[in-house]
Amino acid sequence: MIGNRPKIVVLGAGYAGMMTTKRLTQQFAPEEADITLVNKHNYHYQTTWLHEVAAGTIDVNRSRIMISDVINTRHVNFIHDTVVKINKEAKTVQLEKGEINYDYLVIGLGFEKAAFGIPGMEEHAFSIQTVDTSRMIRDHIEYQFARYRNQKNPDPSMLTIVVGGAGFTGIEFLGELAERIPLLCKKYDVPRQDVRIIDIEAMPTILPNFDEELLTYAKESLENRGIEFKLGTKIKEVKEDSVVVGEDEKEEEIKANTIVWTGGVQANRIVGESGFELTKGKVNVDATLRAPGHDEVFILGDCAWVMNNETGKPYPPTAQIAIQEADVCAHNIKTIIYGGTLQEFQFDDKGTVASLGGSDAMGTVFDGNKLYGMQAKVMKNVIDDRYLFLLGGPMLVLKKGKFRPF
Ligand code: FAD
Ligand code: NAD
Repeated sequence: MIGNRPKIVVLGAGYAGMMTTKRLTQQFAPEEADITLVNKHNYHYQTTWLHEVAAGTIDVNRSRIMISDVINTRHVNFIHDTVVKINKEAKTVQLEKGEINYDYLVIGLGFEKAAFGIPGMEEHAFSIQTVDTSRMIRDHIEYQFARYRNQKNPDPSMLTIVVGGAGFTGIEFLGELAERIPLLCKKYDVPRQDVRIIDIEAMPTILPNFDEELLTYAKESLENRGIEFKLGTKIKEVKEDSVVVGEDEKEEEIKANTIVWTGGVQANRIVGESGFELTKGKVNVDATLRAPGHDEVFILGDCAWVMNNETGKPYPPTAQIAIQEADVCAHNIKTIIYGGTLQEFQFDDKGTVASLGGSDAMGTVFDGNKLYGMQAKVMKNVIDDRYLFLLGGPMLVLKKGKFRPF
């Protein structure tokens, strides 16, 4: 084998990329395949905790894990570099600092915010996208408190926070803000009533298409802690210090110094720029997770749509799916190389739980059992720690987990 070992390249060290790399190291002995992982940082981060980083309820370092702590870098060639473009015809990947070639490619480059062409959204709204963009939100909000405290007649919009969208990211972020803002008020001697947190959602309900009882619970829990909702209201434009919402005579401009957009996600733009055909911002992959017309290219996680044959609709992009896709992808790469039957992706839905702050949550688990409050929060923490266990075993849970003892 040595000499013509297949070269497997994984792009992105998110949920999909990390778990695929981990599984590949279990599927192949070092002399059987060259495994390369490329990521723009030397750390992996928990995207599912970024709303906590953004609100400042957890420290940045809690959400990130050094790649070399969980991936055996004697078995995997880790390249700390940024992907610029994939040349699928030549089977090469252009990086900022060089070029690499592959026999098999796994694209796990994740999501970026979808601004849907809303004027000013790209320029003026923050987004919960990476460790860096999330940390900026935390620092920006705290700076507004410091400024407000140091002015004689401060403009109230300095402490107005607008969240665009009430999908899961928006709702989880609001839950963290509800925890954090009272602490900032205390720290900066600002009355809580001086701060407004307004969520603006285009649909008539929060969490569109989710269970009605659960979303009512979430809305009431957040409203009881001072969050305002403007439902059935579309953001039309974002300016430096305001958002324009509503239609015609109902049009309104809301002044706010902090605007955080959680209105939707699309595949990392590199995928489209590399010539993969996009449908609603992502690539439709087949059931074996391969890109159309490219049997050697697997696209996973938030870069891809995988069809749910029962509903005829693609699965929503989640970490839970990205992790499960990794198992199928690693198995299928081994099968292509050694022969056998390719696996088709079957989602094992373990439920959906949304956090509503430090001690509240709601969701469904297993066969649709509904959970609320602390019980749901404990379940959410178990789900988070399960991933850490899969990635790095008990030591990682002890170091970074939600149930760590110190
Ligand atoms: P990501 O996790 O986004 O990873 C992509 C990786 O690619 C990153 O490490 C990034 O650094 C790297 N990368 C990007 N561009 C480049 C480049 N050019 N070169 C090199 N590397 C690059 N899902 C759930 O199932 N449960 C939850 O509770 C949940 N909570 C969420 C909370 C928030 C705040 C958000 C934003 C999302 C949440 N999701 C949740 C959705 C989930 O996070 C995503 O579906 C998941 O992260 C997708 O995994 P991924 O591996 O495709 O991409
Ligand atoms: P989303 O697409 O699920 O929600 C975006 C929301 O923004 C929608 O409710 C939409 O109606 C609204 N919106 C869009 N345009 C608007 C406009 N112009 N004005 C006002 N509102 C507008 O996006 P998300 O919340 O970022 O979630 C992305 C993915 O991540 C989803 O698949 C979600 O399930 C997953 N996620 C899961 C969890 C969890 O399981 N706990 C947490 C966060 C995210």
